Amino acid sequence: MLAHLLHLQGVDSLVVEARSRQYVEERVRAGVLEQGTVDLLKESGVGERLEREGLTHHGVQLRFGHRTHRIDFKELANGRSVTIYPQNKVIADLFDARAAAKGQVFLEAADVSVHDFGVSDANGSGKPKIRFRTGGESHEITCDFIAGCDGFHGVCRPSIPEGALTVYDRIYPFGWLGILAEAPPSSEEIIYAYHERGFALLSMRSPELSRLYVQCAPDEDINEWPDERIWKELHARFATVENWTLTEGRIIQKGVTGMRSFVVEPMQYGNLFLAGDAAHIVPPTGAKGLNLAVSDIRVLAPAFAEFYKTGKRSLLESYSETCLRRVWKVQRFSWWMTSMLHLFNTDNAFDQRRQLAELDYVTSSRAASQTLAENYVGLPME
Ligand SMILES: Cc1cc2nc3c(=O)[nH]c(=O)nc-3n(C[C@H](O)[C@H](O)[C@H](O)COP(=O)(O)OP(=O)(O)OC[C@H]3O[C@@H](n4cnc5c(N)ncnc54)[C@H](O)[C@@H]3O)c2cc1C
Repeated sequence: MLAHLLHLQGVDSLVVEARSRQYVEERVRAGVLEQGTVDLLKESGVGERLEREGLTHHGVQLRFGHRTHRIDFKELANGRSVTIYPQNKVIADLFDARAAAKGQVFLEAADVSVHDFGVSDANGSGKPKIRFRTGGESHEITCDFIAGCDGFHGVCRPSIPEGALTVYDRIYPFGWLGILAEAPPSSEEIIYAYHERGFALLSMRSPELSRLYVQCAPDEDINEWPDERIWKELHARFATVENWTLTEGRIIQKGVTGMRSFVVEPMQYGNLFLAGDAAHIVPPTGAKGLNLAVSDIRVLAPAFAEFYKTGKRSLLESYSETCLRRVWKVQRFSWWMTSMLHLFNTDNAFDQRRQLAELDYVTSSRAASQTLAENYVGLPME
């Protein structure tokens, strides 16, 4: 996304990616796009397929006490909405845009390392460098800036000298067991279910594909979950007195994801700028990971553009501060949704009563519903 936006501003860049294009395009991950993410993709000319295939949602549903309560975005979030469109399709559309613009993308890059990005290096001994190998050939790229958009397990963040970053971290005592099933979604909108057996989520990727999750142990062994057990658990957690049934289908993918909240401050060091999961992780309950990565890029792209137009570094210098204001608000929302909907301690009846009271409050108070709605569709960009 950054390379695409920079190209539109006439700024050259190249992308170094550890995986193949096929791997990245088939990697099933996020699927809920905030209004601001959708607007940016469309405005920047990569929203054609999104417009055709994206499913616009004007609300989400919270199910607890065997009943369903709707949070209506049209009424509560100024008509803003979210769009269901899979992350791997966003990536595929961006690959197409890069190819059309003849942008350079090095795929299946091995032994990637970053060097000389400290300000003193850039002013003194040299410019930042990226070294890597592709197809047995070694490369060294000399550049003005490095954008560390290489995810939580990438090399950029660990390359920053020890002591320069402060880490804020929280690991949750549960994970999500997720499936992708060839089943038409049983609901037109996403359902978040609170249940005494644990949280469950019904989401979708298309009119033919359902994405479903159940709360599980963080180290749950997926081999102990044959398909029948997964469906049985989903039926139990989504049980309702209403006229509703869960549609089953062939499970085509399943896996367990751990849950954590993580932020490093600052998100920059010299001429290296961290963005997305390289700088922060949210638990997936608020559907924010991808959207937050895009928000960082919405700050970073104009900052680079300003530098090349005017020579000024002011937007670059305030990059981390600008991003972190939003990052922490999104962290708070993701933590809050997670805390409200998951069982932390199965034998603490007080906590469960308190969570049910909170869900009752959130779905019966206009002010509380609005808080959820405006965060879910995405806070405005500053
Ligand atoms: C299983 C799973 C399910 C998820 N579900 C959701 C969801 O439902 N909703 C949601 O909002 N978010 C979800 N997320 C989070 C969301 O996918 C991320 O927040 C988002 O992808 C962050 O984008 P990014 O570009 O920062 O990082 P990434 O998408 O991780 O991109 C980083 C890229 O860098 C590459 N890379 C890594 N190391 C190197 C290296 N050394 N050199 C070169 N390249 C490297 C990687 O191959 C990758 O392509 C999920 C994540 C996972 C893992």
